[in-house]
Amino acid sequence: MPIPQSFLDELVERSDIVDVVSEYVELKQKGTNLFGLCPFHSEKTPSFSVNRDRQIFHCFGCGEGGGVITFIMKAENLGFVDAVKHLAARVGMTVPEDGDADTSKRRAQVLTLNKEAARRFHANLYSPGGRRGLEYFYSRGLTDRTIRRFGLGWAPDSWDDLLGGIKGYEKSLFLEAGLAVANRKGGLYDRFRGRVMFPIIDLRGEVIGFGGRVLDDSQPKYLNSPETIAFSKSRNLFAMNLAKKSTYPAMILAEGYMDVISLHQAGFSSAVASLGTALTDAQARLISRYKQEAVIAYDMDAAGRGAAERAIKLLEDAGIKVKLIDMAGAKDPDEFIKRFGADALSARLTQSEGHIEYRLGTLRGKYDLSSDEGRISFLHDAAEMLAELSSPAERAVYSSRVAELAGVRAEAVADEVAIARKKKAGKERSAERRRELNPVAAMQPKEREVRYSDTKSARAEEGLIRCMYSDGELLRKAREALPPEQFSSETLAKAYSAMLEAADEGRAPSPAIFEGRLTPAELSLVMKVLMDPEPGGEAAFLSYVEVVRAGYEQRQAPDDLVERWQKLKKTKGWEDKEDGE
Ligand SMILES: [Zn+2]
Repeated sequence: MPIPQSFLDELVERSDIVDVVSEYVELKQKGTNLFGLCPFHSEKTPSFSVNRDRQIFHCFGCGEGGGVITFIMKAENLGFVDAVKHLAARVGMTVPEDGDADTSKRRAQVLTLNKEAARRFHANLYSPGGRRGLEYFYSRGLTDRTIRRFGLGWAPDSWDDLLGGIKGYEKSLFLEAGLAVANRKGGLYDRFRGRVMFPIIDLRGEVIGFGGRVLDDSQPKYLNSPETIAFSKSRNLFAMNLAKKSTYPAMILAEGYMDVISLHQAGFSSAVASLGTALTDAQARLISRYKQEAVIAYDMDAAGRGAAERAIKLLEDAGIKVKLIDMAGAKDPDEFIKRFGADALSARLTQSEGHIEYRLGTLRGKYDLSSDEGRISFLHDAAEMLAELSSPAERAVYSSRVAELAGVRAEAVADEVAIARKKKAGKERSAERRRELNPVAAMQPKEREVRYSDTKSARAEEGLIRCMYSDGELLRKAREALPPEQFSSETLAKAYSAMLEAADEGRAPSPAIFEGRLTPAELSLVMKVLMDPEPGGEAAFLSYVEVVRAGYEQRQAPDDLVERWQKLKKTKGWEDKEDGE
């Protein structure tokens, strides 16, 4: 760990998790834990919990969990090192200069290489070989100024334009940056070939990845950088580096790179796009840090409408007021600007409709309102939609709007909405009751990658980890009793090893032991485990060790031995009940 552990330990010790979380979430004591509404998913009843003794948080709704560093990473959308810096600044500590993580060094190298690649792509565009690319951009109406502003480029149809053209870097770095692909024999070739290139730039102005578009009909039409040490598709937005400076009050959300660039060129400098995927939670939160309003300017086809519906929900959950722009007469913003001009778009932007109006319109289009059947179905779906509105005034206003559309009395709609609300509340209550009454259902981790193969052993491994977390003496005993290889769950074994190693360095158990070492899914599981109550003590500890050992031996045994083992267990009367899953 390149940031010294001693520093992290002190930082975590000085950053009480309850204080830090309280700056984001209103917490109330309930039993041994504090509870509040989860900042990472949308909910009406609190399932986000913080344990002061163990200095961890865990959400029983969405599964997010970790220590104070993880919390800041998620809440502020930061990487590990930056989250550490953020927390350090909060308590007036300075991160040791030479303490930059290996990964952060590697990341810096990737960023430097990306920048060189972007320069080369851009230079290619204005070389004779890049003629096709440049003509494409001109044909789409882009000026040289815009091309420069976005750093657009051209990747020639060559296997090694980058690999051969950029000197002074290990070849493996091209692979790690996602600029090269390895063939089956391990040889490398350029990922982007024969494509116009769109560099993706983060909030600090670093080139974190690329999108590339072909000029013919070959597939895929758009190719993006893969996820790398420097690039996470779900946490960044195209052109956010420019849009964050825009004085336009609303963020404009478009679907593609070309739409965004056209919008900027036409003066709409707050346009952004997600990166080849649907809008994510993290992106919605990122937007909410800069603007309280968003206008969705997606394509007018069915796919675009579906994507808009989902984006509306995410943005609203992030506290953003959402409107939709009506682009009737064009299929996307790019075409709209070309056909009607920037002023027309500006006019549409100011009169863009609220999303409820929009959704009602979409819904209305689905049914034939001249038939009774169509009206009833419309009424039913509309009521379900209005039931989600939390404001009674809004529900009343739109109920009468629905009544008008369906040709029924307003009271009839209000009744339908009331029924839909009751049903919805009932569903939420029973889901919650199920969670409370039936922890068994929550026994298997949600994330596939950390699923248990041997639930019985894993239960005991969980217990062991809890015992050791709160009792250093047991930690010492565990080392002698049980090597990590005997764990059935890889994740729990990793957590166990981390605790043993920390103990060797004389460090007390804290979430900092796991953070930066486990993947988010793994960390989430370990935090959930630590949240569970544990009577602890030596007797519990020893019985856990026993179960884990037995499970290990059983898994090791060849088939006939398994039979003998079963027999032995029967004769000895050892318990072997299924976990009920
Ligand atoms: Zn949550």
